[in-house]
Amino acid sequence: MSDLLPVRVHKTRSRATPGGMDPKQILGDRVLPFKHRKPPWFKVPAPGGQRYRDLSGLIGDENLHTVCQEAACPNIGECWERGTATFMILGDTCTRRCGFCHVSTGKPTWNDPLEPARVARSIARMGLRHAVITSVDRDDLPDYGSGVWAALVRQIRRQAPDCKIELLTPDFRGEEMPLAKVIAERPDVFNHNVEVVPRLYPVARRGSTFERSLRVLRNAREMGEGDVVTKSGLMVGLGESFEEMIDALGQLRDQGVSIITVGQYLRPTENHLPIVRYWHPEEFKQLEERGMAMGFSHVAAGPLVRSSYHADQHVPQPDDGQGPLRADAPAPGALPVLQNGPIPVAA
Ligand code: SF4
Repeated sequence: MSDLLPVRVHKTRSRATPGGMDPKQILGDRVLPFKHRKPPWFKVPAPGGQRYRDLSGLIGDENLHTVCQEAACPNIGECWERGTATFMILGDTCTRRCGFCHVSTGKPTWNDPLEPARVARSIARMGLRHAVITSVDRDDLPDYGSGVWAALVRQIRRQAPDCKIELLTPDFRGEEMPLAKVIAERPDVFNHNVEVVPRLYPVARRGSTFERSLRVLRNAREMGEGDVVTKSGLMVGLGESFEEMIDALGQLRDQGVSIITVGQYLRPTENHLPIVRYWHPEEFKQLEERGMAMGFSHVAAGPLVRSSYHADQHVPQPDDGQGPLRADAPAPGALPVLQNGPIPVAA
């Protein structure tokens, strides 16, 4: 009997071959091998100072996730030493499989109603005056996780009332109700990354579309009625041209986006998309100048720029402090500890 069954050949599809396709159809033949020497401008100090250790302890205490760790961000030593990290809510497993992203993918099981309260409490403990929070995509949830996003903003307003809140969200599949729920809480900055130029979507962001992300940004701005600044970001290094980048920036500006970040794609593992080329710091500078000339209020472009990198500098900070921290933030080594169990969560 079994002789009659068709033979099913299981082919493991890595993120470097989205949907089984050969990425070279879009990226071209001239991609860099996985093992190669990076240009010298990617040298970063090794992590490990006192503030880095403080944050590692806090993240462990509170059972939290950060995109700094999950995405293997090269800036972790610098950012954590400045006293900040980008928290990642709704678990550590994403329902999409973007070709560039290091975050785990699969069927999420994370359901933690107290996560917003713990993230907010951590922001208060750290003494942040500007906090950035992101999440995995949760296409498995009926509201795509928007209820947790809204609860998070409410908790931060209660526990760290003076902290500016920047949300870096998924596209909620382009649906308006989940987005409206989040924007109704009036975060200071709403960030949604388009990530790559439109031509690269089939290879880099399968399951998403550039137009849908533009619509999310336009809707967020309109729903925010002038209270919410919108922001987006892109990567370079996957074969896009300078003119394609300018065109993408123009389309973002047309949706009223105010802040732009552009950084170099770095291949996390051999199972991710290959790099086509490294952009030179001088090219990033030119992109920054062209972007500013288009009317953005802030353009941060550089090899190591990520959307949350120095995000406190992307908007005015009315309160006293230094970098992402309030003036009265705890000194290195003096983070308030959780004594005798969890600090009561604000009602
Ligand atoms: S750039 Fe963002 S993700 Fe990277 S370490 Fe800094 S805060 Fe974390």
